[in-house]
Amino acid sequence: MTSTTVDTTGNSSFSTKLPGLQLATDSTSLGAYKTCPKLYYYSVICGWKAKSESVHLTFGLLLHKAREHYEHAKATGLSHDDALDKALDMALRLTWVKELKRAWISGDANKNRLTLIRTVIWYLDKYGEEDVLKTVVLASGKPAVELSFRFDAGYIYSSTGERVLFCGHFDRLAQWNDDFYVPDIKSTYHSIDASYFAKFSPDNQFSMYTLAGKVAFAVPAKGVVLDAVQVLVGGTRFQRALIARSESQVQEWLEDSYQLLAEMEHSALTGHWRQNDKACHNQYGRPCDFREVCTRPKEAREKWLQASYSKRTWDPLQRRGDI
Ligand code: SF4
Repeated sequence: MTSTTVDTTGNSSFSTKLPGLQLATDSTSLGAYKTCPKLYYYSVICGWKAKSESVHLTFGLLLHKAREHYEHAKATGLSHDDALDKALDMALRLTWVKELKRAWISGDANKNRLTLIRTVIWYLDKYGEEDVLKTVVLASGKPAVELSFRFDAGYIYSSTGERVLFCGHFDRLAQWNDDFYVPDIKSTYHSIDASYFAKFSPDNQFSMYTLAGKVAFAVPAKGVVLDAVQVLVGGTRFQRALIARSESQVQEWLEDSYQLLAEMEHSALTGHWRQNDKACHNQYGRPCDFREVCTRPKEAREKWLQASYSKRTWDPLQRRGDI
């Protein structure tokens, strides 16, 4: 087995003692390694990303941003209508490409600027003012919106003696009657039914969110309330479901994560991130972004990456989002 030399010195989430060993890890990083260690190597360690933008990722981030902005505006005392105006203003500004003096062109009939604005208005009219989920007020007196978290994962790498942090970001913490939840939004083309929601149990991101609610914000979070948004050319449909996590489910996720961290450490020590060839052809219904790379012999891959991918630093201590 040949080992790979890695350089993660510019990424604050990685160990300086052992390059390639991630100390601050988010659900995206853990999820990438779970899907395929080689995917984790390319996207998290090396920072490669496909040059073509994922419309799903962009649309999802914009929708989150608009919701977040609405909550923030409401928390300052603005009315629903005024807060909605603020959210729309932000969505319009974020979808304006200044350098090109034109609006964002997604190239997608379902997910584009027009359907984004429509979705934001309809979503906030449905789940804004009248929402049964009420934003939690933190011990500091501030509303629990735009929350970045990081907390000790309770795991120490045996090779370097360094502790692992779990970190990430969610839009808000909310209360439904006496129970606490992490609200989340996901957009899709597909029908929203029981089988759509079933995909989130088990689910890496939602289990980490539930744990983060408990540990980082000290509220007994019971799971995630997922607002699923079906974006169609002629309209948008919404459906809400409670994705619960019991104590024992969260504990099982944590124990599994410790095993995963041990595997990540082994990869960093050996300089080898294996391919999971069962994950190449279907990731959320589409091929892996790196399939074109992995189909080539090892020695030809670097050239291909240089030519067809761009680089960014995936540092969970500095940013939010998804790969
Ligand atoms: S193409 Fe397959 S082996 Fe390569 S990174 Fe993607 S999932 Fe892993």
